[in-house]
Amino acid sequence: MDEEAEEALEGSTDYKDGMKHAPEPIFLCKCLLSDDTIPPVIPPRKLRILNAVDDTETYLRDRRIPELMRFLLTKVLSDGSNDPTSYLKELLDHCMLFRAGHGTAPVLYEDKHLEAVIKSFDPGRRGWLSSGQVRRLYATLGLTLDEYCHEKISTAIIFKDIKRTQESELLSLLSAGIPVEESYSNVASYQPHHESVADRLVLFMVDGLRAESFVNYTTMPYLRSVANNYGRWGISSTQVPTESRPGHVAVIAGFYEDPSAIMKGWKENPVDFDSVFNQSAYTWCWGTYDIVDIFTKGTVDNHIFVHKFDPYDNTFSTDKNTTLLDSWVFENVRNFFYKAKSDDAVQEKMRSKKIIYFLHLLGTDTSGHTHKPKTQNFLTTVRHVDQGIKDVEKIVREFYNDDGKTTFLMTSDHGMTDWGSHGSGDDHETQTPFVMWGAGVQQAKEGPEDSYTKGMSFNHRFDIKQADLTPLMSTILSIPVPVNSIGKLPVDLLNMTLPNRAKAVYSHSRQLASQYNRKKLEVETNAISLLYKPFEPFSTKKYEEIIEFTEKLLLSGEYEELIRFSEEITQLSLAGLTYYQNYYQRPLLILVTMSFIGWILYLLKVLLEQKVNAQVEPVNLKRFSILGSHLLSNMVFLLLCFLSFYIVFAQKLPIQYYIHFLMPIFLWWNAIPSPDVWSKANRLFRRSQKINGVWIEVLCYGLGSMAMGLSFTYRWMLSIPLMGMGLWPFFSSIRNCLTTPILIMWPASCAMLSFFSFVPVVGKDVLIELVIVAGLLWLVVMTIYVLRVLLPLYNGREENRTEVVLAVIQIALLIFSLHNIYVQSRRFDQGTPVSYFYQVMSWVTAVVSLALPVASSKRLVCRLMTINTSILIFYLLLSVAHEGLFLVTLNFNVMCWVLIEFRLLHLGRVRIIDCTFDKSSVEEDKTKRSLTSIERSISSDDFRRAFFFLAYVILAFFGTGNIASLNSFEVRWVTCFITSFQPFIITGLILLKTLTPFLSVACCFRGVQYLTEAPTGYLHIIVLIYSNIMGIQLLYYVRNTGSWLEIGTSISQFVIVQVITLFIVLINQMAKVMTDFNVFNVVNKLFKSRKKYV
Ligand SMILES: [Zn+2]
Ligand SMILES: [Zn+2]
Repeated sequence: MDEEAEEALEGSTDYKDGMKHAPEPIFLCKCLLSDDTIPPVIPPRKLRILNAVDDTETYLRDRRIPELMRFLLTKVLSDGSNDPTSYLKELLDHCMLFRAGHGTAPVLYEDKHLEAVIKSFDPGRRGWLSSGQVRRLYATLGLTLDEYCHEKISTAIIFKDIKRTQESELLSLLSAGIPVEESYSNVASYQPHHESVADRLVLFMVDGLRAESFVNYTTMPYLRSVANNYGRWGISSTQVPTESRPGHVAVIAGFYEDPSAIMKGWKENPVDFDSVFNQSAYTWCWGTYDIVDIFTKGTVDNHIFVHKFDPYDNTFSTDKNTTLLDSWVFENVRNFFYKAKSDDAVQEKMRSKKIIYFLHLLGTDTSGHTHKPKTQNFLTTVRHVDQGIKDVEKIVREFYNDDGKTTFLMTSDHGMTDWGSHGSGDDHETQTPFVMWGAGVQQAKEGPEDSYTKGMSFNHRFDIKQADLTPLMSTILSIPVPVNSIGKLPVDLLNMTLPNRAKAVYSHSRQLASQYNRKKLEVETNAISLLYKPFEPFSTKKYEEIIEFTEKLLLSGEYEELIRFSEEITQLSLAGLTYYQNYYQRPLLILVTMSFIGWILYLLKVLLEQKVNAQVEPVNLKRFSILGSHLLSNMVFLLLCFLSFYIVFAQKLPIQYYIHFLMPIFLWWNAIPSPDVWSKANRLFRRSQKINGVWIEVLCYGLGSMAMGLSFTYRWMLSIPLMGMGLWPFFSSIRNCLTTPILIMWPASCAMLSFFSFVPVVGKDVLIELVIVAGLLWLVVMTIYVLRVLLPLYNGREENRTEVVLAVIQIALLIFSLHNIYVQSRRFDQGTPVSYFYQVMSWVTAVVSLALPVASSKRLVCRLMTINTSILIFYLLLSVAHEGLFLVTLNFNVMCWVLIEFRLLHLGRVRIIDCTFDKSSVEEDKTKRSLTSIERSISSDDFRRAFFFLAYVILAFFGTGNIASLNSFEVRWVTCFITSFQPFIITGLILLKTLTPFLSVACCFRGVQYLTEAPTGYLHIIVLIYSNIMGIQLLYYVRNTGSWLEIGTSISQFVIVQVITLFIVLINQMAKVMTDFNVFNVVNKLFKSRKKYV
């Protein structure tokens, strides 16, 4: 107060000083001055105080705190409880629940009171009151009255109205000051009833530590001994995507974040959500900014303190020593505790209950990425973390004088594969360890060793799901479980008395129940009542009953019963939550499936029209569409459009639902062929009389496409279409026109290709010998090709000389590349500096070999051989294991296919070696042959060709499991080209490597197109049909894997499949350049034209 007065005085002297220097002032009454003309006489300090007072007043007024106090006090007094404190606590809970939309209203006047008051106004029991009486009645009760227009009002109506008014006024009082949105969408947190088992919790997040590194290695001696003696340990399973953000959210907020959140950006938080940190009294965090920032946004008002650093900062990345990252954290924690000893304000906070210390240790993740989890470097980092945790524990214990009220928890956000990546669902990625020790941990007896581990105690093990850690931590501190948490409470890990345990389990179940109820209300309010299907096992009635019943159990202290019923609430709530979260999934799934089918039908219609129009002479193309039927179908579709508009609009569904609804309608609308096409097609099929064969083919292609769809998840599924392809010649009449060598080589190479889909993903191990073997094998093929095919040609005609020269150059290049690969790999393994000469030569070899095909002649077989060899040379330079062998087999197999397709044409004397890629000759031929036919019509053979092509494309991508190489870049992969870590070049090279097998396949497919004169556009349509079948299959498969739900059913699925086809068209265009362009022809033309001018 004194200070304030002094300040005020100071202010006034300032003012006087100002007066001295200013010209003669004109004195005016203060109220005549407008605000901005008053000189700023209030000193800043006082202004601050005044502002604070003002803010406080506004806060109290906005939230109607005085009224609320009055209400609470009246309640306490009128109910006359013996234990006002606990009564008040319960009352507040009750109010919160009521505000959140469940439970009865804790109103001041109960029904009997209201009845009594009404009776006092109507002592004669007339059954009605006059409007004046009603006014007085409301005034007596202190409620505001909506005017009645009648003179006589029945007491029953008055009773109902009073009750309603009272409840709504209470609700508005309780939700005063809360934004409408927030109070609606957020679930109220449920204050737990049990006593905490610890006052504070220390959470260590060892980023990227997989369970295997903990249980199979002795590199964490301290934590292992803790886990086996007085602590507990276990495996905590995470969900895909195994990234840092979802992992941390699961541990700290208790739910598995939707993967689409990753796409929304790593650093920005798409939704504000509740967390254990948020519910704690105080939380101190140390770690990288992208992790700690996830939990410090939104409703954090000065109770979460953050110490963060930038891991991409130079101080960390210049040194390869990843222990620096963790040292930063440990050092800062140590300093913090040291400084706190002399800082009373901080110490007061640290001495309060319900607090959390959170240490994010990134070193292991970085080390795992750069050094791989099985290396000595990684183990050193892990050992360093173990030591650091031990030190921090000691500091904390000392600070609190070993009061035994601290719980420690160590876990990890996700694991890591052997090759240093994470993100997908591998066991190594999803299994993380956790160790809990300190206050409140249920002790386990000494026991046998866990057989799956190296020296871990079986009795101490307790496996959980990652999100279960959230309720566990909340229960330890007795803070509300974060409202979005869906974890189950592993209560057996905690040492609690029966009443305490029952209360904890009950509180947790109530949190889930309120979340369920909120979700239910959300769906209920928007759904059209005619279409709405509630979750029957946990209907509103049952919900109210069970909540009321368990409340009674809690009061009467029947704890075993309480646990039983709480567990039921938990189960029902979780099931109900899933039900309502997926409420629109089933209709959506049906709609997207309908879109797919509609699209397929539309494409079939296009093919059918082509077939019909190519067969029937133009004269017959007379339109005789029946206007009536057209009108009818249009009407039906229009009606459907309006109906879907209404359904989406009335239920307030998000905007993309319009697309979901309208897309299938639009596609089906277009898919229905016009009647004349129908009748012609009908005639056509009746004439051909091969209906049975057609059905078998449709079945084969359908199943094959589905197997290919499945191969996205199970790579070995690729062997099914391959097997079908290998056996196909034996089940059809074409066997007779194939020679014995082909009949042996074709199925054999198919079997070898399918073998690759069983081999582990490329990138795990390095086996440079296999690359050399692949190169040697192709060398043998090339030699045979030169000796058996090229040389006889050369003898015959002089102009094939370039062909032979090219082949010899390629053989030389291949031999040199093999030598290069071997030398570079040896040097890399021995750690000697890699020769720059060899690197430059690698670049030169790659460029030259990729440019060679355009110099080759257009002779089909020669062109394809040159292209395949060139691609193989480039591919081998980037190979580290069996993928080189794979490409050799693939090339061999595809060439066999080209040969088979050629044989099937029955061209008699024509040899395949005489066929060329020259379009002009083909066209000339065509014009000579027939003037009438516009285009060859689609035949069932084209369906087979398209299917083979799609199978090859998918094989080219998944055959060796490229995904693994795409998400982890390593210098080891590109050691022939560069040695320093340059992510852009590495990514570029690996992408090129992934693309080149496609090019091989596409070029051969072009060969087939040339041979068979297939209409290219229509072949692409057939490919599109197959990929759509794959799409439907993917849709139903992906749907089941947890959080991919949202993405799986969205329109994106549909788009992705179409994009695949677009990609296929694109590589076909690239193949066109590679097969059609000839450098000599161009030069020749240029030369000729110049000659003319001369
Ligand atoms: Zn991580
Ligand atoms: Zn990572």
